[in-house]
Amino acid sequence: AHLDRIGAVDEKVHAFLHVDTEGALRAARAVDDRRARGEELGPLAGVPLALKDIFTTEGVPTTVGSKILEGWIPSYDATLTRRLKDAGVVILGKTNMDEFAMGSSTENSAYGPTGNPWDLTRIPGGSGGGSSAALASFQAPLAIGTDTGGSIRQPASVTGTVGVKPTYGGVSRYGMVAFSSSLDQGGPCARTVLDAALLHEAIAGHDPLDSTSIDAPVPPVVEAARNGDVRGMRIGVVKEFAGEGYQAGVMTRFNEAVELLRELGADVVEVSCPSFSYALAAYYLIAPSECSSNLARFDAMRYGMRVGDDGTHSAEEVTALTRAAGFGAEVKRRVMLGTYALSSGYYDAYYGSAQKVRTLITRDFERVFGGVDVLVSPTTPTTAFPIGERADDPMAMYLADLCTIPTNLAGNAAMSLPCGLAPEDGLPVGLQIIAPAMADDRLYRVGAAVE
Ligand code: GLN
Repeated sequence: AHLDRIGAVDEKVHAFLHVDTEGALRAARAVDDRRARGEELGPLAGVPLALKDIFTTEGVPTTVGSKILEGWIPSYDATLTRRLKDAGVVILGKTNMDEFAMGSSTENSAYGPTGNPWDLTRIPGGSGGGSSAALASFQAPLAIGTDTGGSIRQPASVTGTVGVKPTYGGVSRYGMVAFSSSLDQGGPCARTVLDAALLHEAIAGHDPLDSTSIDAPVPPVVEAARNGDVRGMRIGVVKEFAGEGYQAGVMTRFNEAVELLRELGADVVEVSCPSFSYALAAYYLIAPSECSSNLARFDAMRYGMRVGDDGTHSAEEVTALTRAAGFGAEVKRRVMLGTYALSSGYYDAYYGSAQKVRTLITRDFERVFGGVDVLVSPTTPTTAFPIGERADDPMAMYLADLCTIPTNLAGNAAMSLPCGLAPEDGLPVGLQIIAPAMADDRLYRVGAAVE
């Protein structure tokens, strides 16, 4: 049924870069066989899922939204892919994304933009816009995203779906193409909080193949999603996430959600995190720095595209020609920014300072989490903007992640879930819930209460 739905609507939405019809049917039949053999199956066995095209899939193309990896077929599964398969999840295909996960609109995909199912002329968020659009257009009930600065939560927010960035190290990064390794985190996307929790549980947990993977039990997310009791919980409203630049209707729906939490018995207080105003600036030094280093591996020798290999060019020229042809404008901008920020002479002024700001942000979180259990804010300052509106203005585009980036810098956990439609444009608004590291279950408890 989901493959039929994809056939019927994806020409318009363009959520998928690759639909693996045969693989999906094979996986679905395998679940039937397991069931027939009397095997005990988990809650996600046979459930279809849309996988962001940043995770390697054995025998199935993985492009990361880039021309440089066009035609590359990985020989192995990411740990996350493997865990999905082991859980009996049916992977329908790979979803569209901003090239190398750099963007907030999916317009940076080398394969064309994705439409927001609420209004196809608007962006579905990014970088994981294919996954969020697949959910919102009922092409898949579950999806996977990755969140380096907001790429799970912001797409969830603007498409009226649920997205969770787990605690850094909570879900393995092995086989997830690296953008900014100290920030990147894969996580679950769904249409309900409980669905997201079930998916979270299936993909989370220690992986010896990822050196930053946390070796501790997965927080009890499913139990929390089934519970939803917020009586006596202390909830902090981040003062800095309001004011200029925040759409009126976004604040209306956000304030209603806060009021609802109060009515349900939570203790709501205002908190201040002064360093958060520097988060965006720090992020746009740290993320490009790490990206410039990570993307050095695309040298035309190892994977994908190769340009100029005609016997007249040196190896270095082939690398340069391939990178010039294979990377898009935003990726080049980031590689240049990062290379500059890491250059000797500039390192202390840029990268070094950004790392210090990162520490201040982490301390702000530690201080406020001494007094509250979770924080709440709008996920993103505005509803979905029109495709093209911010495409030529990187600074305006970067603002979409104003409220999501501090969490990536500190490494803790956060969720976005729908909290109504903005009165002025009828588009979905997202509520962000932020929890301390390894307290991911609190997101689900609060999420289930407001859902
Ligand atoms: N929009 C942010 C960026 O462009 C975040 C992307 C992400 O989380 N992958 O870097």
